Amino acid sequence: SFIIVAKELGISVCVELKGGNIGTLLSKSGCQGFCQKGPLVNILPAEILYINVKVDDVKEILKKSIKNNSLIDRLCYSDNGKVCKGQNEIPFYKKQHRVVIKQCGVMDPENIKEYISIGGYRAAEKACAEMTDKEICDVVLAAGLRGRGGGGFPVGKKWNLARNQTASKKYIICNGDEGDPGAFMDRSVMEGNPHGIIEGLVIAAKATGADEGYVYVRTEYALAVKRMKKAVKDASDIKVLGKNIFGSGHNFTLHVMEGAGAFVCGEEIALIASVEGKRGMPLPKPPFPAQSGLWGKPTTINNVETLATIPMIINYGADVFRETGTVSSPGTKTFALTGHVLNTGLIEVPLGSTLRQIIFDISGGVTDGKGSVKDGNFKAVQIGGPSGGCLTEEHLDLSLDFDSLKKVGAMVGSGGLVVMNKSICMVNIAKFFMQFTQNESCGKCVLCREGTKQMLLMLSDITEGKADEDTISLLEELARAVQIGSLCGLGKTAPNPVLSTLKYFRNEYDAHVKEKR
Ligand code: SF4
Repeated sequence: SFIIVAKELGISVCVELKGGNIGTLLSKSGCQGFCQKGPLVNILPAEILYINVKVDDVKEILKKSIKNNSLIDRLCYSDNGKVCKGQNEIPFYKKQHRVVIKQCGVMDPENIKEYISIGGYRAAEKACAEMTDKEICDVVLAAGLRGRGGGGFPVGKKWNLARNQTASKKYIICNGDEGDPGAFMDRSVMEGNPHGIIEGLVIAAKATGADEGYVYVRTEYALAVKRMKKAVKDASDIKVLGKNIFGSGHNFTLHVMEGAGAFVCGEEIALIASVEGKRGMPLPKPPFPAQSGLWGKPTTINNVETLATIPMIINYGADVFRETGTVSSPGTKTFALTGHVLNTGLIEVPLGSTLRQIIFDISGGVTDGKGSVKDGNFKAVQIGGPSGGCLTEEHLDLSLDFDSLKKVGAMVGSGGLVVMNKSICMVNIAKFFMQFTQNESCGKCVLCREGTKQMLLMLSDITEGKADEDTISLLEELARAVQIGSLCGLGKTAPNPVLSTLKYFRNEYDAHVKEKR
């Protein structure tokens, strides 16, 4: 038997194991995604998933589930009275398509041998030993993989740009500086499958000609930092298939660096400045990092999820990757699902899935704030964090892909999904996100620095009943100016929550203005 326990329960299970020789292997795991029902205990290979487990339950779990292979009904998920035994029966998991987070929760992320035992580092071996840099870029280009960090830029194009630079020194950086409120996808992947990211980095380094890389991890993610550091050390020490992973046809050195605690450091040029030890501030482009990046050398920056997707593409090819998702947005996307839904958590679905499928089929519906689900509770969803937009009931059947979302004034962003019920004031939501971006503006551009400040003041006046119709017009005008006049993505997208709420919830702005009269 093989048991995986949530961190909080580990000690208790160890004590039990001392007392009885039941041939069980205890293993730590990464996030299994079903946050609402944690802590979870997953027994493999029987595939029995227990939810809301308490330390006192451990004895019973070991006795019944392992010795007698019988279920403890009260700890299993119940779907309308039906006891669900394992992940494949639970709607939250059944309707997902897990590729990037498939191994999170079923593997000890601190044990490289477990990663290797499930076929890990085979793609890196293949890419380094059997493929040219051009062949790797061609496969990634043919797969149509788009950057999962927000912009959706084609990864193969980015790699080709770096590959075609003639510099003798090149760098690759993994951007793990996830800072959006409500987002924890990259954190979960770094904590749950660090070797998947390293394998993607090894392949990206070979494709672009980089011989040195950095994993830039948000400093608040202490466990992710620890696991990434251990994984890099283990991957550097161990021999895979008789060869050193980082030396199998391509020399590559990898470092883990903690972020500087600023949201703007997720922007490519600010991130590079931060790695160089300078203040993280964006600069005008060109030159692009692929031309002149870290210490003036060609540098490729990809986000965590993007890199963790690469091994699958190299192992199975572009056509298999394209079997999931849409034509222009192939593959899957992870989302951090929070807010007024029955089941919050980390999910992965094919791009092109709809909000209705995510909110109602996977997550179980919208709650009234006290846990009860009723038709008509849904009001809006904020997608893509502070850079994204608020969508409404009319968007429930919209295809969630890079292009469709852009058309309605939202974006995939990094993948935060905050679901809101009818009790929420959308002007307050716009104000919350504006407060965030205003705090995080690096201050370089006047329109971002002062514009967001003025927008925040106007939003405060509106919510406090101190504003009139002219304030709303001015707010909209200023939002458009900030979009146009800001240098980087932070400023350019900061007005999105305001503009999307103005577009879809104008009546709520008007209602606040009427309070003044
Ligand atoms: Fe800094 Fe904002 Fe300008 Fe970006 S848009 S460079 S965050 S001031």
